Amino acid sequence: MTTSQAKKVIVLFGTRPEAIKLAPVIFELKNNPKFETVVVSSSQHTDLLKPFLQIFDIKVDYDLQVMTDNQTLNSVCAKVLKGLDEIFDKEKPDIILVQGDTTTAFAGAFAGFNRKIAVGHVEAGLRSGNLHSPFPEEANRRLVTQIATFHFAATHKNCKVLKNEGISGKQIFLTGNTVVDSLHFVLKHCSPSEKIADLIEQTKGLKRVLLTTHRRESFGDKMSGNLLQLKEFVAKQTDTCLIFPVHPNPNVKKITNEILAEQERVYLLEPLDYVDFTTLMKEAWLITSDSGGVQEEAPSLGKPLLVLRENTERPEAIESGVAKLVGENSLSEMLNANYKNETWINSVKKMPNPFGDGTAAKQIVEILEEN
Ligand code: UDP
Repeated sequence: MTTSQAKKVIVLFGTRPEAIKLAPVIFELKNNPKFETVVVSSSQHTDLLKPFLQIFDIKVDYDLQVMTDNQTLNSVCAKVLKGLDEIFDKEKPDIILVQGDTTTAFAGAFAGFNRKIAVGHVEAGLRSGNLHSPFPEEANRRLVTQIATFHFAATHKNCKVLKNEGISGKQIFLTGNTVVDSLHFVLKHCSPSEKIADLIEQTKGLKRVLLTTHRRESFGDKMSGNLLQLKEFVAKQTDTCLIFPVHPNPNVKKITNEILAEQERVYLLEPLDYVDFTTLMKEAWLITSDSGGVQEEAPSLGKPLLVLRENTERPEAIESGVAKLVGENSLSEMLNANYKNETWINSVKKMPNPFGDGTAAKQIVEILEEN
């Protein structure tokens, strides 16, 4: 039920992490009669999105279906701009909400800006400091900052970045990260699939290393080097195992099959829905990942994380002590050192979460109501 003066909000997402992080905001908006909510998916990810939308019972009102074979970032951008223009004409929204740093997020913000529709940027103020890494995400984040009306920042550091770039303090809101809200919801309300429950049973007593890797910057030698080192580690330490939900990107699949297929205590899985994946994070001894979202989830779960990247736009995870950046270090040495001495691994549980308390979505909706 909405009131006649309800503000109309378009919530736009296109990839798995955007959906995960906007789901709690959609939930809060839909439960508030002061808002009318229109959900738009660009479907920049297709198969990865569906199971997640089911968990949160999100109904997509418009699907822009931007995915084609060998599409370019420019074609994604052009399709989102064109598709949104038509939706704006029909729906006449007051606000468009975008999340993070994807091409969908940038195009959505730009489309709103061009039509003088207020743009809310969820997870604003992240910077790696290198315009070309991660690509194109760092540029997308900076561009959205230039044109957004509301900047919802997860941490003090993110707020500071925005202020230093000239954004007025009145437009910056410290809310925490909505991923913590999502994680809390899933852990409270959902149970893993039988397949994952069985895998946990089967690997009981082993130190589980959970891996995700899919970033463009990791493709090629970097990724094969990481996979080889993980393979050697698990082969040598017989009380460990490796669990890897393999990203569908062909650059990841091919190399994974070449290096990790049919290895003892190595479990290669299809991409998992969020409930199964969070369950595995919770049950992991150590997480290794180049993902952005996982850097926020590991501190929320008190799990040690080795970040398979050169740099990170989420230094809070490193500063909190929960994560270590692999960068130029040897992954193999880091794995073996932490296997021999588990002081860091055991200390992580008690470290405070820098990404908020799980009320970010509530705060965002209250702010939109008041402004
Ligand atoms: N994730 C998932 N299933 C998987 C692997 C990851 O649900 O099999 C979740 C993970 O918890 C995180 C998000 O997907 O919230 C991360 O997405 P991704 O790594 O694709 O993107 P990034 O965070 O690097 O932008």
